[in-house]
Amino acid sequence: MNLLLHACCGPCSCYPTEKLTADGKKFDILYFNPNIHPYKEFKRRLNTLREFCEKKKYNLIVDKSYPLEECLRGMLDEPVVRCAYCYRVRMRYAAKYAKENGYDAFSTTLLVSPYQKHELIKQIAEEAAAEFGIPFYYEDFREGYQRGVDISLEMELYRQPYCGCVFSERDRYERVKKKKKAAAEAGE
Ligand code: SF4
Repeated sequence: MNLLLHACCGPCSCYPTEKLTADGKKFDILYFNPNIHPYKEFKRRLNTLREFCEKKKYNLIVDKSYPLEECLRGMLDEPVVRCAYCYRVRMRYAAKYAKENGYDAFSTTLLVSPYQKHELIKQIAEEAAAEFGIPFYYEDFREGYQRGVDISLEMELYRQPYCGCVFSERDRYERVKKKKKAAAEAGE
């Protein structure tokens, strides 16, 4: 199988690539993540993924498109949860690219994170697969999440402190504030 593996970042690529290699699957890695804000962070994650791919000798395909307005509008207009737009824009791109460039299937490193909406990613990727006429390769990589963390630490890869969009960047501070407040109320 010649797989196109969409990668959200370097650290999340560590386990899925190790597992796919162990299973004898061939793959190229695709970076297309216009959801990452701000732009400096977008570039930092791309550079980290480049570093990872160079060290591991993986083929990396990069699309540096950064339609900020379109992306923010899409997230804000998404009826239920902004992540649905965020997954859709990336899975549709990966499916289309895979189909047009002769891959057998596509997948994503988003499937490694226990912090992502796993079932929603799967559902949206399967919709993209049907739309573009190419299989989505599903594997629950979450079992190797800690292994991926360990590899990224060994390789001294930059590990980002938030998911990607500007909303998630704000939310991490909100979470810290809530934790501190709860600790203060508990008299800790
Ligand atoms: S929280 Fe993460 S998955 Fe959800 S919209 Fe933001 S960047 Fe995308």
